[in-house]
Amino acid sequence: MAATPLKSFKTVQLQVAEERSFVHRVGNWFFVIIFVLLLIILLFPRLIDQVRRALQSRKAQAVIEDRQPDYHAVLLQYLPYYRNLPPRLQERFLKRTVVFMTTKEFEFVEITPEERMSLLISATAVQLTFGLEQYLMDHFEKIYVLRHDYHYGPNSVPFQGHVSHDGIYLSWSNFIKGYDNYFDGDNVGLHEMAHALAYVNFNVSEGRDDGFHDRFIRFSATGREVFETMQSDISGGFLGRYAATRYEEFWAVCVENFFERPTSFKIQLPELYSAMCKLLNQDTLTPGIVLNVVENV
Ligand SMILES: [Zn+2]
Repeated sequence: MAATPLKSFKTVQLQVAEERSFVHRVGNWFFVIIFVLLLIILLFPRLIDQVRRALQSRKAQAVIEDRQPDYHAVLLQYLPYYRNLPPRLQERFLKRTVVFMTTKEFEFVEITPEERMSLLISATAVQLTFGLEQYLMDHFEKIYVLRHDYHYGPNSVPFQGHVSHDGIYLSWSNFIKGYDNYFDGDNVGLHEMAHALAYVNFNVSEGRDDGFHDRFIRFSATGREVFETMQSDISGGFLGRYAATRYEEFWAVCVENFFERPTSFKIQLPELYSAMCKLLNQDTLTPGIVLNVVENV
């Protein structure tokens, strides 16, 4: 039996070097794969979001090309806010309204649907968020439209509207009344959209606007003070008793008065009015309305 020849020292050295090089290569590939996976995890949701937004925008654009004159006429007829916007902002407002409308599912409960209903409800949300980057309140996929006041849960008092985890609820008769008399500080559409905006920013994460979320803390420094003072004022002052019941209602009533009675609001509660302007990045008493440029059309 022939003896196995001994490997030379040089051959052994080469084998060890090759093994080390293999381990090194495997190690490199491992880090590359981990890096690529991390990149996918980080960028994928953003990419999906961008694609989704682009598709939403395209869908809305097609609707606008088809219906623009009619929608413009409806918004002019019902919305003093829209009438006051310069033409270039009216264009942006209408686009946002159509994007909002085409991304929501409207469910009409015991009421015959009309196109103006979903258009005007969407426009109310857009009015409130016109100075914000994120305006779609993505968490809410469904908006329920009811005919009149309705009963909800164990409450004996009828509702004009409310916001819950599964959607935004509005009674059409009360919604349209809010626009029939726009200057009385009572607007259920704006009121419920204020609750919905707070909900997407503080209760869930889909649709959060980081700027609004951060500024709300600064707003509350002033807001809480006014709210506390109202607790000992039986009349409730300018904002009324209902605003003093809970801080959530205080916020929603502030929104109604901010849009419907801005001049009196500014005179009666100047610091709170200024805090609202900064928070929402808009002031209906200034010609351009939006205070700082909003990137997202
Ligand atoms: Zn409320």
